[in-house]
Amino acid sequence: MLSELISREDCANCKICCKFEPDELIDAPTFTKKQMQYIKNNINRDIKFINIDDIYQIEMVKYKSKYKCPLLSEKGCMLPNKYRPFDCESWPFYVMKNGDKFVITKSNDCPIFNKIDDKVLINFIEKKFLKIAKKIVKDNPSMITEYNRGLNILYEFNINQ
Ligand code: SF4
Ligand code: SF4
Repeated sequence: MLSELISREDCANCKICCKFEPDELIDAPTFTKKQMQYIKNNINRDIKFINIDDIYQIEMVKYKSKYKCPLLSEKGCMLPNKYRPFDCESWPFYVMKNGDKFVITKSNDCPIFNKIDDKVLINFIEKKFLKIAKKIVKDNPSMITEYNRGLNILYEFNINQ
């Protein structure tokens, strides 16, 4: 989804993604039931999920001083693109709930995103990402976490705008 902002080569040289600090576990990716069943049936039945309403948050596994996603292999994510969750497709953006509004924030951890001027990111949000963010808010509201960690807010919206 974000390939016009971050290239495959950028990610291949970086490999920060899919590992979480303890205070980031609240934002571990969440999956629809269909995505969760695909993982159980095709990748590893033993991967654990926490059921929250109608979605499933994957349980991270301990990795050195951090945690990592159990779907991360040496070659990268084991999931085919069509089964990747919105959280991963949209990262380093986050869509969060903040009071009676929704916000689009960005992670501070991506070295490529950190080099891009916020104006460019906001332009991308307005032209491409906002429509997708609104659809997720409408179709899968349980996937939206509360605003946390004081992340940099790039954009604010409500779904009726
Ligand atoms: S942190 Fe950014 S550049 Fe690094 S792997 Fe993740 S998306 Fe790619
Ligand atoms: S599902 Fe794939 S892309 Fe998402 S955190 Fe796990 S390994 Fe990374």
